[in-house]
Formats: sequence, structure tokens, C-alpha cells
Amino acid sequence: MTTRCSYCREMGHNVRTCDRDSSEAAEMRISYERVQKLATRANTQRVHAIERGDLSEVNMSTEVIDSRDRDGKVTFMIQERVHEPSYPLPRLPPLSEQVQPVSNVTNVVPKSLVKIQGILFENSQDIPEGLYKQLMDALVIKG
Ligand SMILES: [Zn+2]
Repeated sequence: MTTRCSYCREMGHNVRTCDRDSSEAAEMRISYERVQKLATRANTQRVHAIERGDLSEVNMSTEVIDSRDRDGKVTFMIQERVHEPSYPLPRLPPLSEQVQPVSNVTNVVPKSLVKIQGILFENSQDIPEGLYKQLMDALVIKG
């Protein structure tokens, strides 16, 4: 993992080995901040698009890269990067999983109903079959 210099923001060295003077570093920090903001915005929009179900850019991210001109001056740019496709695609949980916690709560079966069901089951021999079936049907908790 390559680190960025916290002083001048250039990739590949750290503040201890940085040889830039303060005005140059300040200029680079401002430039980096501006580009970083663009990258963050692009990534945020991408996340929103993916959340809306547009998975076309799911393996992409926008990153800040360093570009060196002929004088060795570093300029920061944004770059769309395509990641190795990961299969299965980073997936949103299926709808059923997403709503599970809620439906679990609403499906809690009252203890009394469970008890009645148990009593009916235990005494099914003594109850006319038609009635037993009707009662059991009536006790089925609708999901
Ligand atoms: Zn530096």
C-alpha cells in the first residue's frame, strides 16, 4: 500500500522524507484537496447510482492519481479505475433478507396461540376431525 505524504500529498514518500519547501507543499495540498473533492463526489454519486439499482459502475471507483510534468512538478488528477470484477458481484441482499428483521417482529406468535395449538394437537383424537382442522386453520398465523 503506497502512502501519500501528509505534507505535500504526493504519493510514494512520507512527511519525513519530503523535500518540498513549504510554499510548494501548500500549493500541492490545495490542489490535492480540490481534486480529492471531485473524486469523493464522483464516488458518492456512484454509490447512490448503485443503491438505485444501477450496477453498471459497480467495479469502478474514482481515485486521485499523481501526474508529473516534464519539470517534475506533480499535478493531481482524477482517474476512473476499474477494479477486478468480483464474482458474485457485490450484491445487495435479496429483498426478502432486507425485510426479514421487520417481518420477524410482526410475525411473533402470541404464546397463548401456541399453547392453544398445542392443546388442540394433543387432543386431536378427541376432537371431531372436521372441527380440529377448522380450528387449526383458524390458528394459522398469517405471514
Ligand atoms: Zn511530500
